[in-house]
Amino acid sequence: MKPGGQGVRDGQGVRDGQDGQGVRDGQDGQDGQDMRADAPDPLYERLTSYAGRPAATAGTGKDPVNLPMIRHWCEAMGDTSTAYQGPDAVAPPTMLQAWTMGGLAGHPRGTGRSAAYDELLGLLDGAGYTSVVATDCEQEYLRPLRPGDLITFDAVIEAVSRRKTTKLGTGYFVTTRMDVSADGEPAGTHRFRILKYRPAQRNPAQRNPAKSEREAPLRPRPVINRDNAGFWAGVAEHRLLIQRCTDCATLRFPWLPGCNACAGQEWDTVEASGEGTVFSHVVMHHPSFPAFDPSGEGGPYAVALIELAEGVRIVGNVVGVPYDKVRIGLPVRLEFLRTDPDLELPVFRASEGG
Ligand code: ZN
Repeated sequence: MKPGGQGVRDGQGVRDGQDGQGVRDGQDGQDGQDMRADAPDPLYERLTSYAGRPAATAGTGKDPVNLPMIRHWCEAMGDTSTAYQGPDAVAPPTMLQAWTMGGLAGHPRGTGRSAAYDELLGLLDGAGYTSVVATDCEQEYLRPLRPGDLITFDAVIEAVSRRKTTKLGTGYFVTTRMDVSADGEPAGTHRFRILKYRPAQRNPAQRNPAKSEREAPLRPRPVINRDNAGFWAGVAEHRLLIQRCTDCATLRFPWLPGCNACAGQEWDTVEASGEGTVFSHVVMHHPSFPAFDPSGEGGPYAVALIELAEGVRIVGNVVGVPYDKVRIGLPVRLEFLRTDPDLELPVFRASEGG
């Protein structure tokens, strides 16, 4: 908080890495390890000359403070305070930055982020400090924001640290301070700090271990509960069991506690014949999950929705054909695949070449 500043400091600020990665411009030297103050660092001299220059100018909020944005924020944050509802609502103070954001399209040319700030980041990029992580945020609230308030803002490059070494890598902390006004009156400040850094080199063996040294990736475990335990008991016996409502005989899959057709709660099972066709499918390219890919490399793999001969559908892998040969209507037949010592799954083998 600014010395003598009024209002409430936001204790919930962004602290990426404070817990997880230990990145913070700490005064104690524990996180950001200081370079010696007298060590020559021409880049630092250039960077710090930007302190005091604008980071954003003549910014205008894209919308006045308004109830719909307040309501969405509160829903997302789970904040049910009545202060943010009804005719006398104020905006949650921590929304301060939300009113200044440019969205996907950004702010109009000549407003928002300044040329000086772009230059500063360009210098860092050019020197190899190409990665960025937000490390902390500190807000100060001077007056409540109410629906209808028109938001304007300016920001200044407040400080650039000396070069520091963190667990993520070596770089410079850059602090900006945004001054936010509502209907021309000071409403709060938003201080934001990033680390622009050159990522630490990982141990090459760790980054790309020989395949034999790599632990085989495992698929996630299914969640087995009292509503679907019978299905997994069937899989263990290499039987694919479909639930059947004993009131109306409607088949259902996946397993559920009640019947969608008649709400009946009683059921028995029928064993699937194992015949089916591909009803629909997608090919997963990203993110890579090697455990799902038959080659183990995480490359593209097909996920299919199989329509069983009995009429219900099940999601599963199609085996026996490359991912790009899976097509709608492809006939398949059930088999069971042991993916690792603790997991066996129903999969579907294509019975023609595609
Ligand atoms: Zn029923």
